[in-house]
Amino acid sequence: MSLETLGIIGAGQMGSGIAQVAAQAGLKVLLNDISEEMISRGRRTIERSLDRMIQRGRIEPDERNQILRRIEVTTNLSDLAVTDFIIEAVVEDEDAKIALFQKLDRICPQEVIFASNTSSISITRMGARTSRADRFIGMHFMNPVPAMRLVEIIRGLATSPETYDITRQLAQRLGKETMTAEDFPGFIVNRILLPMLNEAIYTLYEGVGGVRDIDMAMRLGTNQPMGPLELADLIGLDTCLAIMEVMHRVFGDDKYRPCPLLKKYVDAGYLGRKVGRGFYKYDSQGNPIPPAAAAR
Ligand code: NAD
Repeated sequence: MSLETLGIIGAGQMGSGIAQVAAQAGLKVLLNDISEEMISRGRRTIERSLDRMIQRGRIEPDERNQILRRIEVTTNLSDLAVTDFIIEAVVEDEDAKIALFQKLDRICPQEVIFASNTSSISITRMGARTSRADRFIGMHFMNPVPAMRLVEIIRGLATSPETYDITRQLAQRLGKETMTAEDFPGFIVNRILLPMLNEAIYTLYEGVGGVRDIDMAMRLGTNQPMGPLELADLIGLDTCLAIMEVMHRVFGDDKYRPCPLLKKYVDAGYLGRKVGRGFYKYDSQGNPIPPAAAAR
């Protein structure tokens, strides 16, 4: 199967990152979101990321322009009919994802593979709601996509070996390492990571430490590059909550109970770095604002 044009749905943090690495790898990309505003935001994220690569001497200005030219954008889902492989990266909500895949199922030729970048939702269940469960797979990229090396691949119960091989080859073409997880909530990475982030939020909620103390403890005490609260802000607190809710509901085990403070932050619209406020405050470039300035 020759794969030339990649369709990406959702131009948020993940969709824009996937579009960037695909265009860097020479693929044509068609990037879709629900509004022009979201598309423009995604495009600006890609431009800023490529500009940083120029500053670090990793690409030439000419290359930046070529990469950007490979990314076309559209708010019209029907335009995705010409793509060879689709990666979905919309909000972590099962109903929204299924509604989208059912529309795509009517639009895209039968041989096109659908991959979901979901962090936790059942690949088997989403695939079964389309007419192509054998060509449905999980392709879980890490955030930020251009910097992180791993793609976790998740086979649904009906995913065919051919779909799996094509998906692995695509991830490798995008410069990523792959590993495979069975289709259970959170797969491997988030099954282990999210309970830790949730516990860090409980630690804050119960007053064991402040935001900076908790992050410093885990950065310096366990040699993690980022503290858990910084990382939760980077992932997006809405996404963290959605993942914990899926694990809590599906496993039925209270060890996955989302912290009430996490729910409160999401209720307040403090969704993390992507909106400028979570456990920390961020400037328009996404850099944390120092505590004294943030208090004003
Ligand atoms: P985000 O909030 O940054 O972006 C989501 C985008 O999807 C928004 O631009 C929104 O307008 C768009 N969208 C929503 N419904 C849509 C629809 N029907 N059609 C087209 N676009 C639609 O979220 P994100 O962090 O990029 O996460 C996207 C997905 O990737 C989620 O499933 C999430 O679990 C997964 N994921 C996130 C991370 C992370 O660290 N944030 C890591 C791996 C996987």
